[in-house]
Parts: sequence; structure tokens; C-alpha cells
Amino acid sequence: MTVSNVNCYGKLYVVATPIGNLADMTFRAVDVLKKVDLIAAEDTRHVKMLLQHYGIINKLVSLHQYNEDKASSVLLEKLRAGQSIALVSDAGTPLLSDPGMPLVKMVKDADLDVVPIPGACALVAALSAAGLPVTQFSFEGFLPRTSSARKAFFSERVMAPKTWIFYESCHRILASLQDMAEVLPLDRQIVIARELTKLHETIVKTSLGSALELVGQNDNMRKGEFVVIVDGAVANKNDEVITPEHKKLLQVLLKECSIKTAVAMAVEITGVRKKLLYQVALKINKEKET
Ligand code: SAM
Repeated sequence: MTVSNVNCYGKLYVVATPIGNLADMTFRAVDVLKKVDLIAAEDTRHVKMLLQHYGIINKLVSLHQYNEDKASSVLLEKLRAGQSIALVSDAGTPLLSDPGMPLVKMVKDADLDVVPIPGACALVAALSAAGLPVTQFSFEGFLPRTSSARKAFFSERVMAPKTWIFYESCHRILASLQDMAEVLPLDRQIVIARELTKLHETIVKTSLGSALELVGQNDNMRKGEFVVIVDGAVANKNDEVITPEHKKLLQVLLKECSIKTAVAMAVEITGVRKKLLYQVALKINKEKET
């Protein structure tokens, strides 16, 4: 395989690397990393371990979120000079919640070749084993870091008909599920895919309520790396959701009327089932007492 040609522009290879299990490296990825003139890596120390494992000796330059605009321009000039370059991130497929987008855009805009070398990706691995609809899905990357921003994020997606997926860290997995439980119905199906391809790989498909209990009560379920997949609203036709607006309405009504009247009025205004609104009203009153 020729990956470089001194007489014409070089190519940019976007190379996926393992997300845990080193055996998930493809033969083609190894071949490309050996033959390119240069490897642009998110963390050169990290990728050195991978290269060592596969006996790859090559030049490395760093391309991370803090230098990627400047580094990408330099790399574009090298491609123009005929050098071939491989782009890798710390794990999985570059660009997917990882650096690389400015470089790939720059190279495409310059009309040079970008060649994908597919392989591991946490999002796709999780989806493939989740058992939730995959015909239409939306990848959301990492969630906002504050609780209020996360709740707003969930509110926007509460009625989304598609499956949706996000990445989460061990530091925020519980807080994210808690916020989700305040917005989404507790019986919504979700999948928590943890430590994929690694020793402690765990893929749990259950209701949001049970997932919250599981992660809250089991220390191990708050360790490692996570992909969370959420079933779309349409998949469950009986899904009736309490949105933050419904809750706000009840809060206002409960200031003025009895629980019975407040719930009756809320049913009239929102069309949501009485039983559901009653449960929320009880919760609001309980919160007021504490
Ligand atoms: N580019 C990578 C990919 O293709 O999946 C993702 C990089 S992103 C910076 C890292 C996040 O991906 C982690 O915080 C976690 O949410 C998810 N992730 C990466 N490896 C994972 C694994 N082995 N198991 C579960 N989630 C993983």
C-alpha cells in the first residue's frame, strides 16, 4: 500500500484506535500508522504506548484542542508539500468528542484527500449492543456541566422521537441521571454502557428509575467511562411526560389552592393524566415541608 506520493499532495488519514481493548486495532490502521510520514496525535505520550504495542516507529506531532487551529495550518502545508499524515486521538474515532474537526475541514476545503480508517468508536459500540432503535438516532456528545443546563437539555429532548446518546464521565454520571429523572418519565428505557471492550465492561438496559438506583447504590457503577443511550419518546406510545413547565404550573397553583383543585386545574390546562400530576403535586408539597 502506498500512502505517500512525493509528486502530488499528501493524504490525511483519519485513523480510529481502540477504546480500551488493544486488540481492536485494525490491520489497516497499523499499516497506515507505519507508512505515513507523520502522525498527528491528541496526546503524543498516550499514543506512544499504542505504537510501541504494535512495533510502530514514526514521527509524532501533537494536535489537541488548545493548538489545533495553528497546528492544522502547519499540517496542511505539509500535505501540500506531499507528505502523508495520520490523525489519531487518545481513543476511538477522531473528531467524535475529540480533536480533529478544524484539520479535516481545512483539508477538505483545500480540496485534498481525507481518508477514513474506521475502527472503534464508543458511541457505535454501545449502540450496537443496546437493543434500542438505531434507524434514527442523535449523538449529543458530552452533556453540559451544570445541573440547570442539563435539565434544560433534557427538557428539549423529552419528547424527541429518536434514540439519543451522550458521553459521560464517572464524576458526573450520577448527577446526570438524577437531573434526567427530574425531567424524563422514570419508566423511560435507557442503556448504560460502561468500560466498553475492557475487563469490567457492563451494559445495562433498564428503566431510568432502576438505572438511577443501580448507579446510586453500586460504587462500581460510578467508575470508568460511560455511554448513555436513551429511548425515544415515540417508541413507547404510553409515555406521558411531566415537563418542567408542568411542574412550574403545579407549583404556582399549589400556592393558591388545595392539592385537589390544583391538580384538577392542571389536568384541564395540560391534558396530562390526573394520576401523574397528582404524584408530582404530592412531591412538590413534600419538598416544601423539608
Ligand atoms: N473519540 C472517542 C470515540 O470514538 O468514542 C470518544 C472520545 S471522548 C473524549 C471520551 C468519552 O467517550 C468518554 O468520556 C466516554 O464517555 C466515552 N468512551 C470512550 N471509551 C469508552 C469506553 N471504553 N466505554 C464507555 N465509554 C467510552
